[in-house]
Amino acid sequence: MEKKLIAGHELKPGKNITDHVHVEGTELHVPHVLICGKNEGPTVLITAGIHNAEYVGIQAAIELSNEFEPDDINGNIIIVPLANRSGFENRTMSTVYEDGKNLNRVFPGNADGSEADRLAHMLFEIFIKNADAYIDLHSGDGYENLIPYAYYLGESPVAETSKKMIDCVNTEYYVRSCCRTGGAYNIASVHGIPSVLIERGELGLYSRAEIEADKADVRNILTFLGVLPGKYHTYPKQALCEHSDDAPFTGCWYPEKKAGEHFKKGEKLGEIRDYFGRSLFTEFAPEDGIMIHQCSSLNIIQNGPMVTYGVPIED
Ligand SMILES: [Zn+2]
Repeated sequence: MEKKLIAGHELKPGKNITDHVHVEGTELHVPHVLICGKNEGPTVLITAGIHNAEYVGIQAAIELSNEFEPDDINGNIIIVPLANRSGFENRTMSTVYEDGKNLNRVFPGNADGSEADRLAHMLFEIFIKNADAYIDLHSGDGYENLIPYAYYLGESPVAETSKKMIDCVNTEYYVRSCCRTGGAYNIASVHGIPSVLIERGELGLYSRAEIEADKADVRNILTFLGVLPGKYHTYPKQALCEHSDDAPFTGCWYPEKKAGEHFKKGEKLGEIRDYFGRSLFTEFAPEDGIMIHQCSSLNIIQNGPMVTYGVPIED
């Protein structure tokens, strides 16, 4: 079997390791679990908490890290249950506490940058680059309403395998992304590592049903990849092209639609008003679509997320 070294640990059959890796030049320590199967197989990375208030994936990853047994595994499973630990411990919504950056916009990172850059660099160099496949768990952020769906990068050397991983996710929709920069799964895909991002959960909440659904998706993908024994299932779903409109003003936000709601071109999607109730901006649908996630807090921030909708496509 090929010997792999992850964060100073040799992946030896039957090993089960829990540890923290220090991010050089920072005070950050990132928890990770390495579960080395008895038999040969691929190395699959699962991350959660890149956005620290997206709790469904974080709890699913913690539970999975305690449920996998080396005896049942072909290859290795690496789990990073809480990538942005300092954000979690300081209850930021989606940013690294020390520098205020969105970790999922700075991959593959920079060893000479600020905390988020260095953290992304470590995650990319130590974990992502050593994986044969990658699953990243997200949710709607603390201020975001969202329907479950998944992403893969449409134009990459590994698009075919990534799409097959998407087929294993039990959601109604998926996004065929064109974005080749910034995000962990995007960068991983560009570097030849088949990757998917699963979105489930919203508004800083988590439920048993959502956690179980995340865990079932991860197990199903691992079965497809041959890491877990047994048969995997595929779930037919609608492909979407994603469009996001950021807020043109800071103020109060009044959404008209719910996540999962379909709308027609020209329909009102929401309005921004000032603190005297005067209208600053009205968002109308530029085309027919379905709302996949949107800001649903009263406050909205200029150049921050407002609405993200999908337009059905053939993939
Ligand atoms: Zn996220």
